[in-house]
Amino acid sequence: MIEFRNVNKHFGQFHVLKQINLSIRQGEVVVVIGPSGSGKSTLLRCINRLETITDGELTVNDSQLHSKKMDVNKLRRNIGMVFQHFNLYPHMSVLDNITLAPTKVSGVPKQEAKQIAMQYLEKVGIPEKADAFPAQLSGGQQQRVAIARGLAMKPQIMLFDEPTSALDPEMIGEVLDVMKSLVHDGMTMVVVTHEMGFAREVADRVVFMDQGVIVEEAAPAEFFNNPKEERARLFLGRLL
Ligand code: ADP
Ligand code: MG
Repeated sequence: MIEFRNVNKHFGQFHVLKQINLSIRQGEVVVVIGPSGSGKSTLLRCINRLETITDGELTVNDSQLHSKKMDVNKLRRNIGMVFQHFNLYPHMSVLDNITLAPTKVSGVPKQEAKQIAMQYLEKVGIPEKADAFPAQLSGGQQQRVAIARGLAMKPQIMLFDEPTSALDPEMIGEVLDVMKSLVHDGMTMVVVTHEMGFAREVADRVVFMDQGVIVEEAAPAEFFNNPKEERARLFLGRLL
């Protein structure tokens, strides 16, 4: 579903992604970890073309992202993204935040979009917040709205960039629980996170990045119990 082949990305002179090769199958859950500045967000943002690659080939679904002809809107309709800082529209109700893209981008009739939005608000456990504004919600609730908003486009892929890093500790669990329910639904997910418990429990694969390179890629049990690369061992050691 997602395939990086010898992908490089530069910001000016800065070589941020170096010779990335990575294949992600439908229904797979891949957790990306690594030190700050190692290129995790850039890797994720290339998948929905928030960043363009400098060279190599990147295929997502049937879209060739390295091709100039590709249809970015079609690509993004199939990919939901959740950010560290929620990025909800502050002047819009929860329901309007969730129905905006389906009505404006996909042309779903307003009434139908509302019904779909309510389904996903049920899924993330806060249907009673439909008419609230983002500022009236806790961080954990806002992030759950952001997830519902991503799901409302019925994407085939969900990308998460440190979705719990801005949350107070007591709210991390509720967001991870929603993400785990998506795993059980069979969603294809790429998750940048520092939540190693989540990675151990639900990842099919852990990808460890350092300085723009994928240093190690392994099943979580193997990676956490027996990391092969020195840089991975050092990184895990610092987390303890
Ligand atoms: P991570 O998510 O692993 O912390 P990022 O992908 O955000 O890493 O960033 C990787 C490196 O690329 C960092 O050194 C960062 O400063 C740099 N970088 C990220 N975005 C840009 C940009 N738009 N322009 C220039 N440099 C950038
Ligand atoms: Mg980042």
